[in-house]
Amino acid sequence: MNAIEFRNVYKSYGEHEVLADISFDVRENEFFVIFGPSGAGKTTILKLIAGLDYVDSGSIFVDGKDATVMPAAKRGVRMAFENYALYPHLTVFENMAGPLRNNKLPMKEIKERVEQCATTLGIRDYLNRLPRELSGGQRQRVSLGRSIVAEARVYLLDEPLAHLDAKLRHELRTEFQNIKSFLGNSTVVYVTHDYLEAMGMADRVCVLADKQIQQIDTPKNIYDHPINVDTALMFGYPPINLLNMKVDKDRRFIFSDEVKLGPFSGELAEQLSKYDKEEIIYGVRPRNCMFSFEDRSRDGYIKGEVIGFEINNFRGILLVLSESSGLLSILCDRFLNVTPGADVFLKPDISGGSFFDATTKKNLKYQGDK
Ligand code: ADP
Ligand code: MG
Repeated sequence: MNAIEFRNVYKSYGEHEVLADISFDVRENEFFVIFGPSGAGKTTILKLIAGLDYVDSGSIFVDGKDATVMPAAKRGVRMAFENYALYPHLTVFENMAGPLRNNKLPMKEIKERVEQCATTLGIRDYLNRLPRELSGGQRQRVSLGRSIVAEARVYLLDEPLAHLDAKLRHELRTEFQNIKSFLGNSTVVYVTHDYLEAMGMADRVCVLADKQIQQIDTPKNIYDHPINVDTALMFGYPPINLLNMKVDKDRRFIFSDEVKLGPFSGELAEQLSKYDKEEIIYGVRPRNCMFSFEDRSRDGYIKGEVIGFEINNFRGILLVLSESSGLLSILCDRFLNVTPGADVFLKPDISGGSFFDATTKKNLKYQGDK
């Protein structure tokens, strides 16, 4: 049985359609991440699951029961909101115990559960403090604690790490394995706009954009085989490089004015041989691009100009402007000596990557799918 099912759900606010024909299943005990840009309708989906809002049409099932119009209290679902506020005049312990008191648990059990939860979140030593005596990161842990301390069959977590700075986000992201085991046998629907969170935590990710589900799959499959150009761009940083190319008449190579790439092998070769248009987009991740500052234009390298350099997670990112494909990025050493305006030559590793239809922007791998 699935923990949650959406069947052809539509939802508008006034004239503004937010969800159009959304269907998905969340499996029991799954850590299911809904990933998408701000305004995509992620919070709306959680509210519909929790029963804090209702669909315009379509149905929702929770634990196999039709919950489309079921009152919130009957669903066994706990939702934590984006604004993880704490009661300023209550201690950390009291803040965390609140949801358990509502469940009328005996004091001993409340104490045990709060302590266990606080230990998981690394705030065991602060239980007697007031929120104002904590750092921002610690406060965020307390509010996360508040939302997971009470047992539920389904937890709905709405961007719990969004308001943290990058370092704290990274810390909590890596600690999420402990949080997952604390939650034990429950289903978690976790909303985020941060692909690293989706990558690091999810059993499966649901990519939501333009009112629709773009793709549902494991993080690795989405990263390696994104369903379309938009999903490819959203899922990964620096973003995937998209090369505008043409297909050679024997359909084994792709080329532009300056380079010819191929022959491709395996699945990519097969996709290319069946593709019947002239223009094609080849997507290749920045980490799969080699580069050189020496003139390698004769060796099938794409020429570009260095227009920027940034540092991200201990790696350097070289930003390159190419004539045929616009802005491209390459991962490099963070101590790389970079001259702005210099010529740079880059070559994608063609053993991987994805082909996209130049008109539909869909990955050729899924061309036959609905
Ligand atoms: P996300 O959580 O992905 O950022 P939301 O689900 O909060 O997106 O919102 C999706 C869209 O619906 C947004 O454009 C938002 O402005 C709109 N919206 C959400 N809730 C309401 C509401 N109660 N009334 C009117 N518009 C709303
Ligand atoms: Mg939201």
